Amino acid sequence: MPFTSLGLSPSLLIALANQQYTQPYPIQQQAIPAILNRKDVLGIAQTGSGKTASYVLPILNNLKGNTSSKNRHVKVLVLVPTRELATQVKEVFELFGSNLPQPVKTLAVFGGGSINPQMMALQNVNILVATPGRLLELVSSNAVHLSEIETLVLDEADKMLNLGFKEEMNRIFSLLPQKRQNLLFSATLSDDVNSITQMILNNPLVIKIENENNNIDLIKQLGYLVTNEKKGPLLRYLIKHHKMNQVLVFTSSVYQADNVTDKLMKNGIDAIAIHSKKSQGARTEALNKFKSGKLQVLVATDLISRGIDIHFLPHVINYELPRSPKDYIHRIGRTGRAESTGEAISLIIPEDQHHFKVIQKKIGKLVTMIESDNINLKGY
Ligand code: AMP
Repeated sequence: MPFTSLGLSPSLLIALANQQYTQPYPIQQQAIPAILNRKDVLGIAQTGSGKTASYVLPILNNLKGNTSSKNRHVKVLVLVPTRELATQVKEVFELFGSNLPQPVKTLAVFGGGSINPQMMALQNVNILVATPGRLLELVSSNAVHLSEIETLVLDEADKMLNLGFKEEMNRIFSLLPQKRQNLLFSATLSDDVNSITQMILNNPLVIKIENENNNIDLIKQLGYLVTNEKKGPLLRYLIKHHKMNQVLVFTSSVYQADNVTDKLMKNGIDAIAIHSKKSQGARTEALNKFKSGKLQVLVATDLISRGIDIHFLPHVINYELPRSPKDYIHRIGRTGRAESTGEAISLIIPEDQHHFKVIQKKIGKLVTMIESDNINLKGY
């Protein structure tokens, strides 16, 4: 389904093309038409799912021609837990809203900084992205009025509640007009989130996006700093010393997959390589053997990182890092599924250290790093 069939205006379609958004993500396919029709939406989705554009685009579309309101009376309010998210969301509104026929003014306000510049900047704002505490301060000093809000968005509602914003949120709800559209996004549905959805959402469209990032908290991630020459011995040491009975090892090329497999076999470890140069029959056989626990090590390229669902896979080792953080998540997502904790180890050579930092930043997790210098690899 292309963006053109979702009901967005031509100027937004041009902005999408300029950003090279070719296909809507699943949450966008469902949320955009519903929000355009002024329906309430409950989106269970995390960062990475495309949730921001799923509400930014239809909100901009719906504002069309309706931007003039009494000064300091905003039309759209987006509540977020942190200043980082506030800034990020504002930037997405600006990215898509900059070339609309009617100009739209978006502002982000959050605590931690001086309030005066934010008070001044609130002149003629249509869309306000705010953290709850700072918003209430601005309301109580009459810098902004909420009586003309048409659409309320709660983004990362679970995080807002975890940060203790419940009371502030309730006070804000009491200042809003009764008749309005409500959109709530949350990564999880805790009891607290449930009670808010019941309180503010009116017959919402419920969209649930399964995200592999969800598993990340179940996975123990480790990085071993190692030189290129010692990678092979370290891999064998880890498998033997940690008594790994079922481990999926990832390499970045067919050549390396075969190479690593050969060396494992020579050192008495049962391993099979699986990659694009193997026949379908050989791949299925290897995978079945591995899944049933009859093969200790499966060495794979990214060919199979997506979609392998092994009931409980305790270990994944990145012999080489993938280029994209998304592939990293797919690879390590093979472990720690269905509530069982797994371990994902990455072997990091000096040249890859920077890239591994980028991956950690993208997935929002710091990985514990271990120096392998002191490990005695003799005999491995
Ligand atoms: P979000 O979940 O809103 O934080 O979005 C995750 C990332 O996906 C952001 O970097 C967006 O720019 C990008 N993104 C969102 N929707 C699309 C799309 N339809 N096509 C390509 N990239 C997208």
